[in-house]
Amino acid sequence: SETSVAVIGLGLMGRSLAGAFLAAGHTNTVWNRTPAKAEGLVAQGARLAPTVGDALRASAITILCVTDYPAVRELFGTNDVDGTTLLNLTSGDSAQARDTARWFEQRGARYLDGAIMAVPQTIGTPDAMILHSGPQADFNAHRETLRALGTVSYLGADHGLAALYDVAGLTMMWSVLNAWLQGTAMLRTAGVDAATFAPFAQMMAAGVATWLPGYAEQIDSGSYPAEVAALETDARSMAHLIEECEALGVNAQLPKLFKALADRSIAAGHGGEQYPVLIEEFAKPHSG
Ligand code: NDP
Repeated sequence: SETSVAVIGLGLMGRSLAGAFLAAGHTNTVWNRTPAKAEGLVAQGARLAPTVGDALRASAITILCVTDYPAVRELFGTNDVDGTTLLNLTSGDSAQARDTARWFEQRGARYLDGAIMAVPQTIGTPDAMILHSGPQADFNAHRETLRALGTVSYLGADHGLAALYDVAGLTMMWSVLNAWLQGTAMLRTAGVDAATFAPFAQMMAAGVATWLPGYAEQIDSGSYPAEVAALETDARSMAHLIEECEALGVNAQLPKLFKALADRSIAAGHGGEQYPVLIEEFAKPHSG
């Protein structure tokens, strides 16, 4: 069924969000600091609100998507938000999300925080994953409307969760990409091009990914029996990796980081346990 939705912030992402609501048949009010960016949406049937306050009052839910949290504060510093429902899809960290939730809630708004794990081109398709956190009742009230944006998920009542999942997800992305680039640099020394190595790298990444749920059980139980391999066995392979990189004349920084973490864990007495025991190194600040 049709719901009135406002989108505040019509950059690359905001325009895509507003377009998806229009495509799904929702009444769409839009506002942007630079009004010209609304022209395409207005041509498709969106209404350009003269002020942020007007957009808020016209809509059952208002989506915010601007550069950063300071821009959100600047925009809403003087607006009456009492009785409104806001979903902030602006990227930021978990402390900003929690502070901003308090800031809006003290002024009478219902506030959900979210994170967009997608590029504008995929918004409106199932490939766009959008994470939400905050009061569950408020999410449930708008879940059907939000489905217009892609695959929506609810993470919990803590407003900081969407931002935390966002950065944790990016850690996965950069780790896989960096590991692949490392392997590609190595293989190229033997005349193997990136496209030839890529399917093998993809198979490795996908295979390792299947280990995660089982390893997570070890982490959650705090017990790391070496069922597959002991950490000291991994550390010996890491030494080979470093030697190989140095012999080939490619960057060995990333392999050295892997080994430094493993060596610290072995020094702490965990050499006979399984790889996920390294969580103890990741769970504390790096000293020295
Ligand atoms: P753009 O740079 O394209 O757009 C930024 C938007 O913020 C514009 O509408 C701009 O208004 C507005 N804005 C910035 N500062 C202010 C301010 N002080 N007052 C009012 N409006 C302001 O960025 P995107 O649309 O790409 O990104 C928006 C958010 O979405 C970011 O937090 C980004 O991290 C997140 N995101 C983006 C993704 C992407 O692939 N693009 C992917 C995932 C998340 P004006 O037009 O007037 O300058």
